[in-house]
Amino acid sequence: MAGKLTFTMIKPDAFAEGNSGAILKIIEEAGFAVKAMKLTKLSPAKAGGFYAVHKERPFFNDLVNYMSSGPIVAIVLEKDNAVSDFRKLIGATNPAEAAEGTIRKLYAKSIEANAIHGSDSDENALIEASYFFSELERY
Ligand code: ATP
Ligand code: MG
Repeated sequence: MAGKLTFTMIKPDAFAEGNSGAILKIIEEAGFAVKAMKLTKLSPAKAGGFYAVHKERPFFNDLVNYMSSGPIVAIVLEKDNAVSDFRKLIGATNPAEAAEGTIRKLYAKSIEANAIHGSDSDENALIEASYFFSELERY
């Protein structure tokens, strides 16, 4: 059965441009409830750990530099079918391929600076949430 939690980050480009409020409004209007949220800044090591699955990819170093270039907003969200519904809401990795109305279509600048993260499985949602929050059992 699909889980109820997913994890997201408003990435450095979107935060720096003042788009966090608009993005959060879209997320809440789509029926997601915020279960935990914080403003933080990733060290290169923490960004590299988060995206460790991509460490052999040619874009890995650029991705780590980008993700540690400024503050991000880390958020745990709850909704039925959370992972899959959230991936639909954010749209394709490359904003040029993202559907109309999706968060990346609206706010991403490039395939790298693409405004927002979304977990890709229930298992990863829990791993990623616990990378940022230790108090999840309270929610
Ligand atoms: P995310 O995991 O951040 O939600 P995603 O699941 O849509 O994104 P992944 O394949 O997991 O996409 O890639 C992780 C991130 O790495 C992307 O969101 C983007 O910032 C960056 N990235 C992915 N592909 C490329 C690429 N070809 N060139 C540059 N950066 C890329
Ligand atoms: Mg991914």
